[in-house]
Order: sequence, then C-alpha cells, then structure tokens
Amino acid sequence: MKIVGGKWSNWSGSVHFRPRSVVAPKDEVDLAATVRMAEGRVRFPGSGHSFSPLNQTDGTLIDLAAFGGLKGFDPDSEVASIGAAQPLWGLGSLLHPLGYALDNMGDTDRQTLGGAVATGTHGTGLRYGSLSAAVASFRLLTTTGQVLHCAPDENAEIFAAGRLALGLFGVMTEIDMKVRPVYKLQRRYFQSPAKDILRKLDGLVEANRLRVFLVSAQRNGGLQIAQRNRSACTDTPQRRHALCARRNPAAAGISVRRWYRIVAADAGCGGTGAETVRGADGAQTEGALEP
Ligand SMILES: Cc1cc2nc3c(=O)[nH]c(=O)nc-3n(C[C@H](O)[C@H](O)[C@H](O)COP(=O)(O)OP(=O)(O)OC[C@H]3O[C@@H](n4cnc5c(N)ncnc54)[C@H](O)[C@@H]3O)c2cc1C
Repeated sequence: MKIVGGKWSNWSGSVHFRPRSVVAPKDEVDLAATVRMAEGRVRFPGSGHSFSPLNQTDGTLIDLAAFGGLKGFDPDSEVASIGAAQPLWGLGSLLHPLGYALDNMGDTDRQTLGGAVATGTHGTGLRYGSLSAAVASFRLLTTTGQVLHCAPDENAEIFAAGRLALGLFGVMTEIDMKVRPVYKLQRRYFQSPAKDILRKLDGLVEANRLRVFLVSAQRNGGLQIAQRNRSACTDTPQRRHALCARRNPAAAGISVRRWYRIVAADAGCGGTGAETVRGADGAQTEGALEP
C-alpha cells in the first residue's frame, strides 16, 4: 500500500485522505488483534483502483500486503486457494505452472483479488461471470475479530452476500477460486462502418468473448473493433514454465541468465504469421491470427 507523506490516494487521485494510523498485520491472528484494538473507522484497501471513497477513513488503515500468494490447489475440484491481497497481475504466474488460469478478468490486472471480488469486478462475454461468481468459498475476519469459513453449505447467507460486499462484512483473508485449464486468447482488430456493426451486434455479442469498440479517427465514421477469443492451449508443461518464467522469473525459481535466454527465444518465435497476445492466465502467448 502506498502512503506518501501520510496521505493515501486512490489510482486516479480523486480520493485522498490522511488516516490516523496505518497497520500492517503479518498474519490472521495479528489481523484479528488489529481489528479489535483499532481506533476509529477501519478500512483495508486493495490496490486503490476504485473510484468511489470506499477506503476513506480518518481512523485506521490496514495494509493487507502479507495476505497474498497461492495457498493451495485441489485438481479434483479445480479450486485454488489464494491470499485475498494477491494482485491479479501476479496470479497468472502462480496458476500457469499448474496448467490453470482464472476464468475471466477485467481490462486491467492491477487490482487485488480481494478488492476485485468485493466490488464484483467483471470482464466481458455473455458466458463468463464476474470474479465474485468464481468464488467457491472464503475465510472472513469479521469486525469482532472472529474468523468464519463461508461456503454454499457453511455460513451460507454470509457467503452469498459476502462475495460482493464492498468490505462491509469484514476482511476476506483467503479466497478459494474456481479456476479452469489454461487457454490462449487470440486477438483480432478490424474496422467496420458503424451501421454494419449495429446490424450485426447481437451476433457479435453472442459469438465473441470480448469486444472493445473504439471510435475510429477515420472520416468514414467507422468503428475499430478489438475481439479476443479463446482457443485451446497446447503448450507443454515446459513451455508453460518458460512463459511463466518470462513474466516472473523469481516465482519460477530460475536464474536471470536463463530468463534472458527464454525471453530472447520467445521474442524470436513471435515474428511471422503469429501474434503475441496476453492471456487471462497472465502469460504472453502466440496465436495465429484469424484471416
Ligand atoms: C484502470 C482501471 C480499470 C478498471 N477496469 C475494470 C474492469 O474492466 N471491470 C470492472 O468491473 N472494474 C474495473 N475497474 C474497477 C476495479 O476493478 C475495482 O474498483 C476494484 O475494486 C479494484 O480493486 P482494488 O484491489 O484496487 O480494491 P480497492 O479499490 O482498494 O478496494 C475496493 C473495495 O474492496 C474492499 N476490499 C479490498 N480487499 C478486501 C478484502 N481482502 N476483503 C474484503 N474486502 C476487501 C475494500 O475495503 C474496498 O471497499 C477498473 C478500475 C481502474 C482504475
């Protein structure tokens, strides 16, 4: 969490305030004690990407930085246990070596998992839910310092409401996310007159995972369309490891020298007939362009 001169600001700078105290608990026990003894209104920001003053307080600000990382993975249920303060940008690198990825993401990856879940952050595509929809269960530290495990069959009402609670029920410390086997995203850009796009809109929405419509600078009033669709990932475990290492060599446990070799090799194969794309799994991959 970034505090400059005692002042916290959100991503856009539209919300800023000076908390009375900033505390960084190291584990759940420490966090419970912090919440119980905190002075004033307690807030626990993620990455501060929300535009509304959700994190604002003149009381205690809790830095959840210690609550990240991949805590476990169950291949039978395809559920990964993740520390709630884990930034999304680093999550792909943790899941990718296991052959798994998040089902969907928004258009940036700077948020923490807890912040994104607490606000119902979503991507696009009719068949893909928000991050809250992929929550299988979570651990919640309530305002009284009690720890609850919340799942469809345990504390069910808190589970249902707590998946999108703007932090009102307490601090999620660990979130179990339904994940899915890795996939690639293929990106295609094209331009089309606005009237054609409007005519085909329902079909485009149905057939594509993600569309971004950009108002084109062209005089013909055309729209520039960016589509990203999934395709199967046929990467070997070694290839996945290399891709993960390219993004996060420290997590993959490789030397800087080897990392340079991987990056150089990868840059070479991104050249002809293929496009380098970044998957929701966090890794850059090459996908053949649609004609
Ligand atoms: C450039 C940009 C792009 C964006 N793109 C999208 C997008 O594509 N789709 C979309 O839906 N949204 C998008 N957003 C909105 C963003 O995803 C949400 O505001 C999200 O909440 C930010 O997460 P954060 O980690 O920054 O949380 P914060 O903004 O820091 O906090 C948000 C709320 O989450 C709560 N919270 C944080 N951690 C926990 C926790 N561990 N337990 C319980 N509550 C917690 C906080 O208390 C607070 O109430 C975007 C925002 C920006 C600035």
